[in-house]
Amino acid sequence: MSDALPADAPSAADVAAAAQRLAGRVKRTPLHCSQQVDERVGARVLFKCENLQRVGAFKFRGATNALLRLSPEQRARGVVSWSSGNHAQALARASREQGVAATIVMPQDAPAIKLAATRGYGAEVVLYDRQTAVREEIGRQLAAERGLTIVPPYDHPDVIAGQGTVAWELAEQAGHLDLLLVPCGGGGLLSGCALAAKARLPGCRVVGVEPAAADDATRSFKSGELTKVHEPDTICDGARTPSLGRYTFPLVRRNVDDMVTVDDDAVRAALRFLLERLKLVIEPTGALAYAALHSGAVQAKGQRVGVVISGGNVDVAALGELLGG
Ligand SMILES: *Cc1c(COP(=O)(O)O)cnc(C)c1O
Repeated sequence: MSDALPADAPSAADVAAAAQRLAGRVKRTPLHCSQQVDERVGARVLFKCENLQRVGAFKFRGATNALLRLSPEQRARGVVSWSSGNHAQALARASREQGVAATIVMPQDAPAIKLAATRGYGAEVVLYDRQTAVREEIGRQLAAERGLTIVPPYDHPDVIAGQGTVAWELAEQAGHLDLLLVPCGGGGLLSGCALAAKARLPGCRVVGVEPAAADDATRSFKSGELTKVHEPDTICDGARTPSLGRYTFPLVRRNVDDMVTVDDDAVRAALRFLLERLKLVIEPTGALAYAALHSGAVQAKGQRVGVVISGGNVDVAALGELLGG
């Protein structure tokens, strides 16, 4: 895949429009700061707490924005998507709120609580066998058969614009920043935040953070060739996507200043620190951006740094185990 920008790729103006559209529908999540963190990293660190967003992650922004952009005919027919994680719940919840029928394709071995939560929000769940089927294909087939509109987890202009409102808001709340650190899976959040930063945070460097075992975006960013990593082994389940997409690859290439990786031990250390010292409950993927600072992978001495905490949906029992009891 080339890194040519599709003609309908979102711009900063689309992020601005999404911010207006989402006002009153999504939570304006708080900034959190800590003297302990500032002293440890020698910088002024401002955490944007999307773990406190509705449904526990920023995905509610992109899903809500995409639904609000549908035509009346599309709304009447319903939407379909595939995800075993936060996008499923976000789209299910946003759809119920807007009176749109949602169908979500999920692996039959997905955690029972996630299946229950998605069904609990009123979505129809279609199960598939991960050994024998490809979820995108099932989703596309359902879309064709039932006339449903696909709302993908990240590679969609309205989804990207919605996710970008995280940084749009952060710019309003924080004022000037020298550096913005954003976790990266499929790159929807990073693409949107980079668009917002270019418009609202002049001079701010935007750096994406990936798990070392799932470094496809970092390699794609550096080489200019779209690179895939299948079924990566990492505790960061929100960043296990195989690659950037048709929109997110060119957007990341154009608007992001650098990409770095952190290993799972660095994520564990960051999670533990944020939980014990800052009392923040965060899922592993949500701690990626801070892990880059905490581990020293990114140096920010004397700077004002925005750190996106992207989500907080973690099984509390599993968290103890994750952190080593
Ligand atoms: C989906 C997700 C990510 C990655 O977002 P992309 O838009 O796929 O890059 C990061 N953190 C959390 C908590 C997520 O749910």
